[in-house]
Amino acid sequence: MKFHTAVLHAGKTELEKYGATLPPVYQSSAFEQQSAESLAGIFENKAPGYCYTRVANPTVTAFEMRITKLEGGIASVACASGMAAITNAFLNILQSGDEIVTSASLYGGTIDLFRNLGAFGIQTIFVENNNWEAFEGAIGEHTKLIFAETIGNPGLDVTDIERLAELAHSHGLPLIVDNTTATSYLIRPLELGADIVINSSSKYINGNSSAISGILTDSGHFKWTREKYPVLGEYLKYGPMAYISRMRATVFRNFGACLSPQNAFLNLMGLETLALRMEHQCENALGLAVWIREHYPELSVNFPGLESSPWHEIARKQLENGYGAILTLRAGSKERAFTFIDNLKLALQVSNIGDTKTLVIHPASTISLHSTQKQKEEAGIYNDLIRVSVGIEDLEDLIGDFQQAIESMEKQ
Ligand SMILES: *Cc1c(COP(=O)(O)O)cnc(C)c1O
Repeated sequence: MKFHTAVLHAGKTELEKYGATLPPVYQSSAFEQQSAESLAGIFENKAPGYCYTRVANPTVTAFEMRITKLEGGIASVACASGMAAITNAFLNILQSGDEIVTSASLYGGTIDLFRNLGAFGIQTIFVENNNWEAFEGAIGEHTKLIFAETIGNPGLDVTDIERLAELAHSHGLPLIVDNTTATSYLIRPLELGADIVINSSSKYINGNSSAISGILTDSGHFKWTREKYPVLGEYLKYGPMAYISRMRATVFRNFGACLSPQNAFLNLMGLETLALRMEHQCENALGLAVWIREHYPELSVNFPGLESSPWHEIARKQLENGYGAILTLRAGSKERAFTFIDNLKLALQVSNIGDTKTLVIHPASTISLHSTQKQKEEAGIYNDLIRVSVGIEDLEDLIGDFQQAIESMEKQ
């Protein structure tokens, strides 16, 4: 199935048994079994079935199966948020004393999470993205995983996934990629060699800002070993399902950040239009970026679809169907950035991306507030930077709104 078809039909479950065209919302915390033995079987992971929604739920399964198909993996685990998915992905293999090597160009919440992991004895080394010597130099005997975002939020650097996966594998390490900003519409990191892909489905997958959620998908290709990943020990017998089996049996159910069935349903609704929305949003973003560059070059618009982006070549090689729908610009100072944002009439001031509506934010004072100055610089977050998540409005209206906001800023 090609992508526009797959978002509607891939990974269908048996849920629609009365001919419903949508999966039902199984809004139930627990599921009855007909015998003590069958409930025991489900608890031991020996029989398929449902017992308790924190562990699994049929509507959530339907969402997981569709994402698994779209990302080209073998299984997915949906979580209460993108942050919960990232946390589960890491803690499923890490122990105190382990290290993570990551691209420094990341979503602020993920940088904050790395700091929290420090309290549990897990250290993180941040390196410049796509700097292969820096990655090589940072990998040591305690390193257990490599992490990067497909398109850094909001640095908008495009990771060369194929190359980073090769580098990770040459050290016997898995590559975990956050694909939130690109989505499987633009790129399927697992096909390029990444081992686990994570999406904050609160963003483009949901598309309407109606539910917080996250999901991770395993390729099943990584060769885990008992020596390097002792926590996976007893699950290695499940072969390619070792990673997901351990997660479902331990950290996922015990940390308890499960996805509600209602939110899984909202995501399934959103998913149906993912391709259509992304197509239009990517076109709008390119159109807006080109317009800003032509009319206001001093605003240093950054967008991977512009040849001026240092990441344009990687983006061209790697992304299909577009260059994403996020752009940034630099107003010259924090005060001018605030004035510009306040003057926008159509774009909403919202700490989110991937909505149908155009959203705008000043990252340095919001999503990256808790990062150190050094972390901000490494992540490409300047004091005058404005991030725009371009929506599906008519491009002419967006240009009109940006033009009047820029002109009002110039007058002040
Ligand atoms: C929003 C975001 C997250 C976190 O997702 P939540 O659903 O808000 O927890 C992680 N990574 C990226 C790139 C994001 O944009």
